[in-house]
Amino acid sequence: MKKQRLFTPGPTMVPEDVLLEMARPQQHHRTAEFREMFKEVTELLGYLFQTKGTCLTLTGSGTAAGEAAIVSCCPPGKGHKVLCCHGGKFGERWAEICAAFDIPHAKYDFEWGSGAKPDVIDKMLAEDKDIDTLTVVHSETCSSSLSDIEAISKVAKKHGAMLIVDGITAVGAIPVKVDEWGIDVYFTGSQKALMLPPGLAFLAVSDAAWTRIDAGSGHQYYNNLKKFRKSLANNDTPYTPNNQLIRGLQSVLRRIREEGLESIWFHTSLNARATRAAIAAMDLQLFAADPVDSVTGIVLPEGVDEPVLRKTMRQKFGMQIAGGQGHIKGKVVRISHMGYCDSFDTLSVISALELVLHAQGHKLTLGAGLAAAQTVFAESYEKM
Ligand SMILES: *Cc1c(COP(=O)(O)O)cnc(C)c1O
Repeated sequence: MKKQRLFTPGPTMVPEDVLLEMARPQQHHRTAEFREMFKEVTELLGYLFQTKGTCLTLTGSGTAAGEAAIVSCCPPGKGHKVLCCHGGKFGERWAEICAAFDIPHAKYDFEWGSGAKPDVIDKMLAEDKDIDTLTVVHSETCSSSLSDIEAISKVAKKHGAMLIVDGITAVGAIPVKVDEWGIDVYFTGSQKALMLPPGLAFLAVSDAAWTRIDAGSGHQYYNNLKKFRKSLANNDTPYTPNNQLIRGLQSVLRRIREEGLESIWFHTSLNARATRAAIAAMDLQLFAADPVDSVTGIVLPEGVDEPVLRKTMRQKFGMQIAGGQGHIKGKVVRISHMGYCDSFDTLSVISALELVLHAQGHKLTLGAGLAAAQTVFAESYEKM
């Protein structure tokens, strides 16, 4: 009987014990039990983000957190201007939010597959003194590429600009150090590296960001961060939270704490490196010039039909991978390495890809991708 495996960069696979935890009978959220649980998850989020700042949990997908961060730090009409850095669909979303709320903004539009360049940002901030805020995507899921947030944060500091980071496919997968790097607001969602169903969004908010937020009047009602901070003082939320997911979150964050972030970062990177070695051995091209370890984008060779490839992977082998977005739709497939996905899941998706590409007439030696991946694993055997 076929097994279902999800390799999409969100949603991702959810561990069985976490699913069972969420299947327990509904509990009311205005109780001491809920507040106890919420207190624990908030502390564990501090570990996840590596911050002593405020960790907030919103009910909504990751976009809710991004919108809340931008609109509360840069309320329209208060003289703020945002530089939106983007080289992919998700980065573009933060510029769309500025436009939707009439927040003045400029765009640093760079090539898909590359990371945002700190020296370009430096120049843009030097040339436009009105810019006081940056939005940057740490791991651009759509182009499977990485930006150097630590270096970008130094540039932002030099110009006194606030840094808001979309870490939706970064935190819990690749190194993220919110306090050490001096990031003002960093946010994520539940359905990517946190291996939960969609429906929760999280923010780490620094003291410097609160100074800005407190000076604004609060342009949002539902995702008003000041209300979330006020409720958090009592380990509570302003409105009905998705408490079933918060129960799952408790389970997931305990697992992450137990395994340790260093180990998680290592294993995510190991699976990404094995996949990249397999791609080269299968005579395929990597999409990104600056590849990220949470998701791998693969350029399909001429003659391979992308929708047929993905459909075959799903129907024949129960494996779901993602296609490309925007102008790379139909040309690229993406495989996630985040969360509940181990080295043997990684080998399984490589072998299925080999079989399907072989069937579609792409010239490769069957087993070449697997051998290359196994070689990477063998080199790290002691640490696996
Ligand atoms: C998935 C994703 C988003 C959008 O998050 P939603 O949870 O769909 O709102 C934004 N940014 C990045 C980098 C993502 O991977």
